[in-house]
Amino acid sequence: MSNPQISIIAPLYNETESLPRLITRLNAVMDKSPLTIEVVLIDDGSRDNTAVLMQQLALTDRRYQCIFLSRNYGHQIALTAGIASACGTEALFIIDGDLQDPPELLTEFYQKYQEGYDVVYAVRKKRKESLFKRMAYSLFYRLIRSISYVDLPLDSGDFSLISRRVADILKQMPEESRFIRGMRSWIGFRQIGVEYERDARLDGESKYSFGMLQRLAYNGIFNFSEYPVKIITRMGMVTISIAAIYLIQTLIKRFVYHDVPQGFTALLFVIVLFSGVQLIALGLIGEYVLRIFFQAKGRPLYVIREVIRQQQRQPLPGH
Ligand code: UDP
Ligand code: MG
Repeated sequence: MSNPQISIIAPLYNETESLPRLITRLNAVMDKSPLTIEVVLIDDGSRDNTAVLMQQLALTDRRYQCIFLSRNYGHQIALTAGIASACGTEALFIIDGDLQDPPELLTEFYQKYQEGYDVVYAVRKKRKESLFKRMAYSLFYRLIRSISYVDLPLDSGDFSLISRRVADILKQMPEESRFIRGMRSWIGFRQIGVEYERDARLDGESKYSFGMLQRLAYNGIFNFSEYPVKIITRMGMVTISIAAIYLIQTLIKRFVYHDVPQGFTALLFVIVLFSGVQLIALGLIGEYVLRIFFQAKGRPLYVIREVIRQQQRQPLPGH
């Protein structure tokens, strides 16, 4: 059996409600498509019935390969595991497992791939999510775009089609704190955005907690920008300038006008203010140091508990 042309990759964390519907839609896509397609599902340490459903699926349908991680590692790592074991020779189609990213768009994305694009990423036209979440996302993407050294497209997530060579480069990037949409932009080649309307989640709740979203945002900011550290330098310069002006003013008052310097409260205020500024500065540097710390350990990014697939794949070059 030769390798499929396309791998569809979907990470799943407690998606018992969505999974049957996902399978129905994926099957429909595969049945209609002239391409040979495999589906790679990754169980990110689900605590519900997701893993059981996946096991049955992998044993009954040869087109599915299912990977079970040893615990919950988070969306980005689950995706990484999926990309690592995808066998698609032409392209990898990355979607969410909750059907917010319509798998039917494969045809349109693949067409762009055939036109010569290595990365076809989805751009959200409209989000059917809460106002708060929409505003937070919108702010985040604009912030990160303005400070990042890679050209990050606005309003696009991990939903994309990437060519085999881009996938192979991603696999060579051992970054521990992963922000795949940023890494994808960094790789370069020809990239293009396709607009789509992001559906609301049909079943269940978002599996991203506030803490996880914050970590994702931090990964985006600290892994793709040196701006925070530059801000510290600038703050330092501004502070020194203010201090110098103040010193000159005090000296003039003392020696020209013979005033006694006053302002105990002002002094206290300035001390408190700049202690705060220094703590923030330390925290920002700490963020980078922490990243070095975790990366220096060189641990594997994830541990696989089990892989179930019926078809033997041919080893890809470089494996
Ligand atoms: N997900 C995962 N591990 C996690 C959290 C989420 O594999 O720790 C999966 C989840 O099952 C879904 C996808 O990542 O298929 C996107 O997550 P979610 O829909 O919760 O995020 P949102 O769409 O709200 O950003
Ligand atoms: Mg979702």
